[in-house]
Amino acid sequence: MKYETVIGLEVHAQLLTKSKMFCACSTKFGEPPNTLTCPICLGMPGVLPVINRRAVEFALKTALALHCPINPSCRFSRKHYFYPDMPKNFQISQYDQPLAQHGFITIRMNGESKQVGIRRVHLEEDVGKLVHAGTMAEAQHSYVDFNRSGVPLLEIVSEPEIHSPAEAAEYLRQLRAVLMYLEVCDGNMEEGSFRCDANISIRRAHSPELGVKTEVKNMNSFKAVQKALEYEVKRQIKILEEGGRIVQETRLWDADQEITLSMRTKEEAHDYRYFPEPDLLPLEVSPVWIEEIRSSLPELPEERRRRFVLHYGLPEYDAGVLTATKALANYFEECVSLHPQAKVVSNWVMVELLGQLNKDNREIEASPISPQALAELLSLMDQGVISGKIAKAVFEEMYQTGEAAGAIVKEKGLTQISDEEELLRIVEEVIAQNPGPVADYRAGKEKSFTYLVGQVMKATKGKANPQLANRLLRERLGEPGKQTAD
Ligand code: ADP
Ligand code: MG
Ligand code: ZN
Repeated sequence: MKYETVIGLEVHAQLLTKSKMFCACSTKFGEPPNTLTCPICLGMPGVLPVINRRAVEFALKTALALHCPINPSCRFSRKHYFYPDMPKNFQISQYDQPLAQHGFITIRMNGESKQVGIRRVHLEEDVGKLVHAGTMAEAQHSYVDFNRSGVPLLEIVSEPEIHSPAEAAEYLRQLRAVLMYLEVCDGNMEEGSFRCDANISIRRAHSPELGVKTEVKNMNSFKAVQKALEYEVKRQIKILEEGGRIVQETRLWDADQEITLSMRTKEEAHDYRYFPEPDLLPLEVSPVWIEEIRSSLPELPEERRRRFVLHYGLPEYDAGVLTATKALANYFEECVSLHPQAKVVSNWVMVELLGQLNKDNREIEASPISPQALAELLSLMDQGVISGKIAKAVFEEMYQTGEAAGAIVKEKGLTQISDEEELLRIVEEVIAQNPGPVADYRAGKEKSFTYLVGQVMKATKGKANPQLANRLLRERLGEPGKQTAD
């Protein structure tokens, strides 16, 4: 490998507070434009912002979960630029004294754990939204919706310690999981409540210096982030190979063409003229409050993953998949509490359930099969009432109709045939109807045995208890290579 990729990510997470960062307006999504506003979030002259305590609490939770020491005192600053969606012409953010710094997050890549440094975690307010209507040919109109103006955002900035696009996507998945476990952000990338700007550079392997970076914006899914970065790696390496130089610039991901396009270069970059927000006092968080929050942190994805391995004896891979979201981990644990065979439950959840849900683009919360219903199905299988093969068919039916396993089994007469006499009758019929394969088996052709088992399964529509069918067939056929009395 001649080159090394260096990536640092800036994430903006919308906090799940009921009201905005500096006023009492609602943060609800999807309301009619400009109905959730007041003089403060419209940036009228003479108004005074008031810090939202809940937003600070959520920020502290996140910072602590990311192993950041909390700064005893931090402050807000004005970040100046001119844009029609921001009537004050500055955004209240944090600059030289952020809420917290120097943490890390643990991610897993190729079965190994790795820590990525968190440079800073700070609070700021969101801006409004421009809505562009009409095409260029028509008269074009742009509208401004200020409902989002002043919604609390948490900015989480990583160190440049991510070394591939896949690792960047994994970092984002893990960070999103942490925020969602903490219930401070809904993690919705499409609605923009979890968005990411990616900084990326290339350097010669083992070079001590960082290369010139570009910043890529406008990706609204993990896949888009990964694709955009993969594109940038190729683009930057090509420039270096051709003896060129990378220009420090901001680039936009074009999802249709799957390329990045230059938006602005360093020369055009804003000078934000940060200065301390004079309308807010420095924010001092008491150590008592910090300890209160620290001790009330819930179990986080990383801890839960480790517990799933230790407590349930699951493979690392399973534990990683099952703890990806809190809802999925809860689903698994509820199911295991009713059907205490962790690996069986894990297989069914990962393969059958997630397989179906992914196909339908559904989340676990929308699963038509509850953990109780899945546990019932697995118990029926475990007790030998139905075979594994039938269980899969019943599962399909449950998924489509939402009906319970027991009801489907009864209604469709799928109960496994474990009655020896009943099955023996069928075994004898199969033997009588298949003289050729029977003779082959007796002549030592083991393959014919498999064929005969298949015939018993066919005759019973898959309902024969496989172990019993095997035993009865062996008994009736006798030892291969020997003729039996009958
Ligand atoms: P800016 O002032 O342009 O926003 P910062 O130094 O504040 O740049 O860093 C922003 C993000 O970019 C951080 O996540 C950081 O890790 C990352 N970063 C900084 N330098 C580089 C680089 N040379 N290559 C890749 N990422 C970088
Ligand atoms: Mg930046
Ligand atoms: Zn307001």
